[in-house]
Amino acid sequence: MTSSAELKDFEASKTMRNVMGQYFKELTDPARPKKIAWCTSVGPAELLRGMGFEVYFPENHGAMLGATRMATDLIPLANAHGFSPDICSYLTSDIGSYLKGESPLNKMKLPGPPKADVLVYNTNQCRDVKDWFEFYGREWNVPCIGVHTPRAIGDVSDTILTDVANQIEALIPTLEEVSGQKFDMDKFKEVIALSKQCTVLWKGVLDAAANVPSPISFFDGTIQMGPAVVLRGAQSAIDYYEILLAELNDRIKNGIGAVEGEKYRIHWEGMPIWGKLKSLALQFIELQTAVVSSTYCNSWVFEALDPTEPFKSMARAYCELFICRSDEPKEAYLERMIEKYKVDGVFYHNAKTCPNNSNSSYNMPQRMQKKTGKPYVIVDGDLNDLRLYSEEQTRTNIEAFVEQLSQS
Ligand code: SF4
Repeated sequence: MTSSAELKDFEASKTMRNVMGQYFKELTDPARPKKIAWCTSVGPAELLRGMGFEVYFPENHGAMLGATRMATDLIPLANAHGFSPDICSYLTSDIGSYLKGESPLNKMKLPGPPKADVLVYNTNQCRDVKDWFEFYGREWNVPCIGVHTPRAIGDVSDTILTDVANQIEALIPTLEEVSGQKFDMDKFKEVIALSKQCTVLWKGVLDAAANVPSPISFFDGTIQMGPAVVLRGAQSAIDYYEILLAELNDRIKNGIGAVEGEKYRIHWEGMPIWGKLKSLALQFIELQTAVVSSTYCNSWVFEALDPTEPFKSMARAYCELFICRSDEPKEAYLERMIEKYKVDGVFYHNAKTCPNNSNSSYNMPQRMQKKTGKPYVIVDGDLNDLRLYSEEQTRTNIEAFVEQLSQS
């Protein structure tokens, strides 16, 4: 083991903080000329941006509440308001934050999340997002509309794509009414093209981790993904990932790994544990183990986007996601990840308030081990609710797992 674990930040991160800061500044400026649309993280952002909205993603706010550990004090407020401790802790943290009037954005001297003019969800990830948005729709008496995508999709059939594409198109009249602007197909196609460019670059960032040693870890990815989540379809995200990718290529050229003396490589399955990112990253560095891939960071890769077929390609991009697929395509995907990233073992995070993005409850780890021969560890925890996470237990499990990797 190395004696002093150290996180290696990227030079580019300074630019990222500026890009994200500017995004939040514009979003929360009371003098902004644009209407605000709230959008789920894998919702129809391109349509909203193409129709002239500023787009706000409350799950990103949920992640900030988790990372700053503000969630711990805020979740009980939402629980007392009737939102169960068993449901999505992004939802309960965010509603708790609203009820208390406190947000991590205040630390950036910003007033807090902007009030929505319209809320737009996609149930491709879970039903919780719809319930979450409907709370605010009732609170502010604004339209809450969305796309109902099937879950546990096996083959992404043409019937599903046509249905989802029609649902996306059917959002337009309400959006026109709220924005006061007519839908402009050329503008929409332009945004799809920008979003595709962002996806290609973001995928390039994640693909860099296939190198040995990996120049970037999953923990870096959870921070670096900010622009791909909230600014896809905007030029600033593209400009940022060009800078980051150049730095990654430099690291690759010079053999610089995110983990000094990398010995083992792991795939992280499921949600991050936002309040423990730093301590987990440091523990893995101490163990000379690089967490090189994840389905989480890859969830913002939308390769199917195609400006020549805007609605259908958007439907495909948002139906092909790992989270809304059945176990068979999920397992095939994991197999490809394990091979591509030269993974030695798989870490399954069983996030107690997000069964939608936890994959360890129905025998998948055992099946995957049988197929690939790669060992696994399952860690119970949560994305935001640290009452559901045991630091001591997790540290011990990780140590034992890496010890197991050293013997395989
Ligand atoms: S997928 Fe999980 S974490 Fe994301 S909004 Fe749904 S329940 Fe919450």
